[in-house]
Formats: sequence, structure tokens, C-alpha cells
Amino acid sequence: MRYIARVSALLDDWASRHSVLATARRTAALINALADDRAGPGTIAEVLRAHGEADPVEVTARDVTRMRAAAPHLREVFAATGAAGAAAVLNRLLREHAGPPRLTSHGGGTPWHLHLDRDDDAPWDEWFLASSCMALAVLLWDRQLPPGAVCASTGCPRVFIAQGRGPERRYCSRRCATRERVAAHRRARAGREPGPPG
Ligand SMILES: [Zn+2]
Repeated sequence: MRYIARVSALLDDWASRHSVLATARRTAALINALADDRAGPGTIAEVLRAHGEADPVEVTARDVTRMRAAAPHLREVFAATGAAGAAAVLNRLLREHAGPPRLTSHGGGTPWHLHLDRDDDAPWDEWFLASSCMALAVLLWDRQLPPGAVCASTGCPRVFIAQGRGPERRYCSRRCATRERVAAHRRARAGREPGPPG
């Protein structure tokens, strides 16, 4: 019984690492990591591993260059306004960067899941665009909301995945939310204080 519970926990983990939400979060993490020009193959491979990619994760400098060129296309989905805006961007990206849907288990190494890239050995940038578009499109379908957003904090370029229902999230992190709250508080206080005479 204990063994079965353990196997079932492992399977849950196995499946959840490959869920649509996990894939969408990986997209946001990759866009954020690639936005830093100093992030090389080691950093990008770490992000992939942290989001469930199994070793060996082999990423070259050329792969990173091509993934970095792909990232702004995906950023447009996060920057779009409303579900209709995000859907329009996704439809264009799916048309231009995705192939027909196919199921793969990577030879039994993962749960069965959908891929929109040409085959399991497609280059990283093709895989990045196709898998991201699919996950973001399914989230939009499921929630009838934009799948994510760009942080509303001034000067913060980070994107994040929206948290399903509930109050709309505006910032990528607690740090950005706090910084904006402090700034708003300062502005409000400055507005209440008497101005210079004259
Ligand atoms: Zn932020």
C-alpha cells in the first residue's frame, strides 16, 4: 500500500512537471532568463532543468542565440491587451512557428503529451516557440483570460503567468509589488504636503 502511494506520488510529480501550467511557467522563466544578455548556455540549461527537462540537457551558444531571437515573439503574447489581443498574437505565432499536433512520450521517458514542433530532435528555438505557443493557447482556452502579463512595475521587463481566477496580478514578484506600493505611498504623501510658497 505504501509502495502504491509512493508510486502514485511519483506519477503525480511526473505528470505535473509536464502539465500545461508547468510548460507555461517554463516559457515565462525562459523569456525572463533570455532577457539578460549575460545568460549563456549554462544558465539556460539550468532553467530548463528547473522546469522539468530531463538530463542530458545539451544547449549550445548558438541555441541560446536563436532562443533569444525567438523570445520577443512570445513576449508579445504577454504584452497583448485582453484575451482577444493575446489570442490574435498566438494565432499568428501558431501559423508561423508551429507544425501539426503530434503526441510523443519521448520513447517512454515522459507522459504522453502534445508537441507542435516537427520532431523530438527539433532545434531548441523551434521547440521553445512551438511548445510555448501551445501551452499559452491552452491556458487562454481554459481560463478565457490572457495567459500572462508583463510586470506593471516601471522598468521591470519580467513576464509572469496569471494565477487562474481571483484578483488580477499586476507584478512579477513581491519585490516589484512592494516597490510600487512604497512609490505610490510617497506620491500620495507628497501630494498632501503644502507646496512651496508663491
Ligand atoms: Zn517586476
